Amino acid sequence: MEINLNNNEVAVRENRLGSVIAYNGTIKDFGESGCGGCSDKKRCFSQSSMCNNGCAIGQLFSIYDAAIVQHSPSGCASIAMGGSINDLLVKALGKSPKANSGFTCTDMTEQDTVFGAIENLKEVIIETYNRYKPKAIFVAASCVSGVIGEDLESVIDDLKDQVPVPIAPIHCEGFKTQIWASGFDIAFHAILKYIVKPAQKKTNKVNVINFAGGTSWNSRADVARLFKALGVEPTFLLSTATIEELEHLSEAAATISTCGTLSSYFGNGLEKGFGVPFIRSLQPHGVIGYEDWVLTLAKVLGKEEEAKIYLAEEKRIYQPQIDEFAKKLKGKRAMIAMGPSYSQNYARILQEFGMIVEHVTAWHLDVKYDDGNMPPALQYEIDHADNNYTFTVNDLQNYEYINILKKLKPDVFVTRHPAGMIVWSMKLGIPAYNVRDEYTSFGYIGTLRFAKALYYTILNKSFTNNLAKHVKLPYKNWWYHQPADTFLVD
Ligand code: SF4
Repeated sequence: MEINLNNNEVAVRENRLGSVIAYNGTIKDFGESGCGGCSDKKRCFSQSSMCNNGCAIGQLFSIYDAAIVQHSPSGCASIAMGGSINDLLVKALGKSPKANSGFTCTDMTEQDTVFGAIENLKEVIIETYNRYKPKAIFVAASCVSGVIGEDLESVIDDLKDQVPVPIAPIHCEGFKTQIWASGFDIAFHAILKYIVKPAQKKTNKVNVINFAGGTSWNSRADVARLFKALGVEPTFLLSTATIEELEHLSEAAATISTCGTLSSYFGNGLEKGFGVPFIRSLQPHGVIGYEDWVLTLAKVLGKEEEAKIYLAEEKRIYQPQIDEFAKKLKGKRAMIAMGPSYSQNYARILQEFGMIVEHVTAWHLDVKYDDGNMPPALQYEIDHADNNYTFTVNDLQNYEYINILKKLKPDVFVTRHPAGMIVWSMKLGIPAYNVRDEYTSFGYIGTLRFAKALYYTILNKSFTNNLAKHVKLPYKNWWYHQPADTFLVD
């Protein structure tokens, strides 16, 4: 399905990309059958998951000077707590605390579901502007506003003379998709349609689509140093970006990303709608990914020689140290559970260390991206994973991956979000590592950092062993003997 920035809504991933939330097989089977047999599989029982409203709002609330109006019951607005993570990043970067950013909610009631809540929504938008003076306001739909058919476009049209900043509707009703990552696309569609302006000139900026990374390590400085060698400057998106920066994204020399799942719609939308080249490469995690990311960007910028010199110097310093830890990690067995892009990128890194990837679980799977091609990191694994590890797609269903962990008993479980997942593995006596910061293994220095952390996680098992000794999990023995696809049906 083509990207069309004139449309009010973007199609969800199931319809646009053929994405799935249920699969059980091996990585090679997946590559050979092109997901044959999995696209019509459903999960007949679901424990818990996330909704795309939270995903969209999480992105937009990280903008430095924009406000969110959540048109929903108050429960949906609990996502506002996530804003504190962004405040930490603002602080870490030495920026002044956010002053023109706010999160409000229309607190829809049962009565509103009968009579509608459009007038209340208008009042809340005006009050949000008067209170915070944001540079833009995003108005988010929810299941409740969606079910009663609230017309966000007409509200925004009515207010355009009273509120002197862009107001953008976010069509992120929770029920419209089972894939929360559709929320990324919905948020980015609003930015592309309502905020980004046509280019007046070209600049030496490169749009870097990332999450809120950079709080644990000074990784934004690592990116800036690399970019300086290539004669460009990064604009980090969306976290801590200003509305003014977003207005000028069309002027950039290129767009690049740390996560394929996050960036597919935004990167391809900037390319299709505004002519900004989107860098299609592996993500910059581990040595192979980093080199591919840097060299592909350099090629588009015409700076290949500069990139090779930069990489050679970094490699000279860090590769011998990486090799030392890779020797210690060689042969260790691992299971991975992360979002689709990160899971494939981390499978590659563990294989770079000589580890045996026994199993990969992805929270959903994009069979293709918005350019019509298979995600490069997934294609790489299909082509290079010699042991043809088992592969499942599972949207945060603990009961499924805990069976796999118990059966495989790997030396380490590597996961990313939610952070609480590592506890389940540790309670089984399996050490776990949480890739909390998205720049954990960025470049050579990050790869070394990750190799060290992984080695010491496997080496020092005392806390994991103690936890397992004193915790009784709720599962009975028969539960662990079920196959991983027990709850998948046609
Ligand atoms: S699924 Fe619907 S009701 Fe639940 S948090 Fe998301 S938008 Fe709100």
